[in-house]
Amino acid sequence: MDYYSSQITKLIEELSRLPGIGAKSAQRLAFHIINMPQDQVDRLANTIVNAKKNICYCKECYTLTDQELCPICSSEKRDHSTIMVVENTRDLAAYEKTGKYDGVYHVLHGAISPMLGIGPADIRLKELMQRLQGDVKEVIIATNSSLEGETTAMYISKLIKPTGIKVTRIASGVPVGGDLEYIDEVTLLRALEGRVTL
Ligand code: ZN
Repeated sequence: MDYYSSQITKLIEELSRLPGIGAKSAQRLAFHIINMPQDQVDRLANTIVNAKKNICYCKECYTLTDQELCPICSSEKRDHSTIMVVENTRDLAAYEKTGKYDGVYHVLHGAISPMLGIGPADIRLKELMQRLQGDVKEVIIATNSSLEGETTAMYISKLIKPTGIKVTRIASGVPVGGDLEYIDEVTLLRALEGRVTL
């Protein structure tokens, strides 16, 4: 099935490994890239390589950043005694877009899922507990309302309760199974404002 030269086939193959890109889209993208001006292709390729090379985890909240401390953790305008726990950097971005949350975050990079074999040690939970040694007044658990998100929320609240720090859970205005990043800002704000103490 070598209709294309091996170089094109290879490009299509690599692109089709990306999430949400099927064989047809990969083909369309490959031909689009080949028809792009050389400088645009260089820029795209360099941006990908540099992003991968320079992006690391913030040493405080573990979001993806290109500095030791992300802009949120290094900001004096943020309330560092309120920590919102989210599953990933995209969820953090969703809350940031509302512009109404002035605390800081903790990014778990996943959720507990016994079915997938993801346990508490596989997400950034230990790091969260370490942060609680400092001056923390409230931990807002904003994991998704999926089974995994709820399991994680329960687990975290049980872990934190003995420390006496206030633990809250965002309201369930967020549709079950809904990924936070797809939920509109009004719903997110309502969920945050209606949070309940666990
Ligand atoms: Zn940070």
